[in-house]
Amino acid sequence: MFTPLSAKGIVASVGYASGPLFLIDAATGTYVANGAPDTEAARLHAAIAQARAEVATLMSSADDDSALILEFQMAMMEDESLAAPAFAAIGGGNDAANAWIAALNKEIDGYDTAEDSYFRARGADLRDIHDRVLRALTGAAALRAPAGAVLFGRDLSPTQFLATDWAKGGGIVLLRGSTTSHVAMLARARGIPMLVGVGDLQAANDHFVLVDAEHGKVTVLPDAAERHEFLKASTAHLQLMNLARTQMGEPAVTADGAAIEVLVNVAEPTDVDRIDPEICAGVGLMRTEFLFNHGLPDEETQYAAYRHVLAWAGNRPVTIRTVDAGGDKPVRGFTVEETNPFLGLRGIRLSLSRPEVFRVQIRALLRAAVIGNLKVMFPMISLASEYAAAKALFDEETAALAAAGVPHKMPPLGIMVEVPAVAIAPEAFADVAFFSIGSNDLTQYVMAAGRDNGAVAALSDVRHPAILALIEKVTRYGAANDISVSLCGDAGGDPQAIPFLLRAGLRQLSVAPAQLPLAKAAIARASLHG
Ligand code: PEP
Ligand code: MG
Repeated sequence: MFTPLSAKGIVASVGYASGPLFLIDAATGTYVANGAPDTEAARLHAAIAQARAEVATLMSSADDDSALILEFQMAMMEDESLAAPAFAAIGGGNDAANAWIAALNKEIDGYDTAEDSYFRARGADLRDIHDRVLRALTGAAALRAPAGAVLFGRDLSPTQFLATDWAKGGGIVLLRGSTTSHVAMLARARGIPMLVGVGDLQAANDHFVLVDAEHGKVTVLPDAAERHEFLKASTAHLQLMNLARTQMGEPAVTADGAAIEVLVNVAEPTDVDRIDPEICAGVGLMRTEFLFNHGLPDEETQYAAYRHVLAWAGNRPVTIRTVDAGGDKPVRGFTVEETNPFLGLRGIRLSLSRPEVFRVQIRALLRAAVIGNLKVMFPMISLASEYAAAKALFDEETAALAAAGVPHKMPPLGIMVEVPAVAIAPEAFADVAFFSIGSNDLTQYVMAAGRDNGAVAALSDVRHPAILALIEKVTRYGAANDISVSLCGDAGGDPQAIPFLLRAGLRQLSVAPAQLPLAKAAIARASLHG
């Protein structure tokens, strides 16, 4: 008899799902080779053209997030170097299907084994391209999961996600995957429960499965007790979500009456289009790495992005963070190869080492500051001298814009507190305008546990006394010196962490928009004195 199995995973998108498992492996069909290199090459050209046409059709009806992902795939397919090794192999006598498979698998391997989780995540896009062209070559039908299924496999491609009918629910369980992948972003945006980094799981197509993407657990062929437990937890979650949504427009106040400001984190400028500004106190973190996804953005591109968010916010504050490239967020042509990128040339360290790139962003920010209530912060600050050097560049660019008669304004400049050195000795930063605690990185650096590594995920808990003590140290220092302190890491939106964060002195949290209802509900239940 089959033993019911369960496994732990990392939550990439919160929620509960149950349904039949659907194994996500590409259908390859059969390919009958013609043999003549010219014919084989023509077939491959035609298959790539068909794949591009399919992606173009998907793009025409895609929302902004999906369109960006499809654009990335289109750009990969338009790049002739992608298929060049396949055409060379065809010239050497190979058939189109085998040449394509070998060439793409080599490329996919490169991405899969990349040190950076960003590049590993892009492997799913390449696998998608591989399958799409292969299907065009072989005439195989695309595999489509039945509505309500739980997709299970090594990794999921973005177009598999987009081709899936999520109207009846469903979920995603991946053996590998990462919380920073394109698919994870899509799942969070659509509210599809998703677990990644799940260990070995014995399962087959159609096995009934329970996905608890609140506590990070998947159970195959559950017994009655497990079903009961799941029903209880998922019903509680649903009730809480429904209640939380109805209270989303109200100010956040703890059970004992303390007012808490809740702001949102955004990345893409268009993220704000889906948010009613009335439900939040502004933007607590705009990550600008996203603008650097397709190379280094020019001043006008950046200015337009910042202007869009500031115009949406009106008088509400918008805190834009200068680019935090490096670590798990590499940028081609900017970040450098490192053996340990989380401890390397990342964030402000990289920006200061490439002032010609940094100045472009600074000018765009100074110009955008005229539009609304802008605040700017620097990521990965360790030393006061880094803050001083960044501020000096802001002063220099201010003078240059003034001399050129370009409208501009100096915004308040603050720092992320995410390197333990800063939290341990905040008094070195008496002249910053504000602190914003980056609990994601602060936790990984305090616990020595990589934030992208499922094997050590259990160590990454902001409620560890060492981390809470550091947060409290910063909030106390801020209160005594009139420097505002907020928190913009993912812990700020975690209902279980929120009471601990408030008791550590935080009164301002910035959370992912999807986390906002539950965060506000958790604040309403919390009391500051335990
Ligand atoms: C953090 O480290 O908590 C943070 C908000 O920054 P990021 O997740 O972008 O590194
Ligand atoms: Mg960080």
